[in-house]
Amino acid sequence: MIIKDRSKLETPCEVVSIKEGEEIGVRLLHELRESKSGIGLAANQIGINKRVCVINVKEPLVLINPNIIDVSEEKFKFAEGCLSFPNDKVKTLRHTWIKVHADNHDSTLVFSAESNDINDAFECACVQHEIDHLDGITMFDRELKREPLIRGKNAPQKIGRNEKVTITKGKESKVLKYKKATPLLEDGWTLSI
Ligand SMILES: [Zn+2]
Repeated sequence: MIIKDRSKLETPCEVVSIKEGEEIGVRLLHELRESKSGIGLAANQIGINKRVCVINVKEPLVLINPNIIDVSEEKFKFAEGCLSFPNDKVKTLRHTWIKVHADNHDSTLVFSAESNDINDAFECACVQHEIDHLDGITMFDRELKREPLIRGKNAPQKIGRNEKVTITKGKESKVLKYKKATPLLEDGWTLSI
C-alpha cells in the first residue's frame, strides 16, 4: 500500500543498518514493479520510516542511507510525478548533476542529466526526488513557481503574495490576495490591472 497522505510523508526517515536496508530495498522494488508506472519509491511511502529508496530507470538501484554530497550549480527544469500523488504533475528545478554516497555502494555515485539520453535526466531527477522523500520533502515543496506575467502600464512588475488583486473570468470577478488567486489563474481566470 502506497501512502497518499502528504502529512505522513513529512517526517525525515531514520538511518538504517545495511542488512535491514537490503530487506526494505527488496520490498520497495517489489512495490515499484507492482505500481507499473513508477520509476522510484522511498521507504516512507510504504510506511517504513527508514532511509532506503529505490530507483528503476536504467536498472534497479537500491540506496541505503543515501546522502547528496555534492551538486552542480546548474539546474534543469523537470516535470515530475509521484506514486503518492498519482494525479499530480509538478514542475521543479533539479540539479544537473549530483554526487551521492550510500552505505551499500563502495564508491560515490554520480547522476547526471547532461547526456543526450533522456533516461539520464529521469534518473538524475528521480534520485533527487527520492532522497527528498527520505528528508520528509515532497515534490510540492520543490514546485517551481512561475513569475507572474503582468501586462500594463508599469510592466514588468512583481506582485506580492499578500497583495490584493482583481481577477476575472467571463463576467465574474473577484478581489483576493495574490497567493489565493494563483491557483485560479491556472484555471481560466485572468488578472485584471
Ligand atoms: Zn515521490
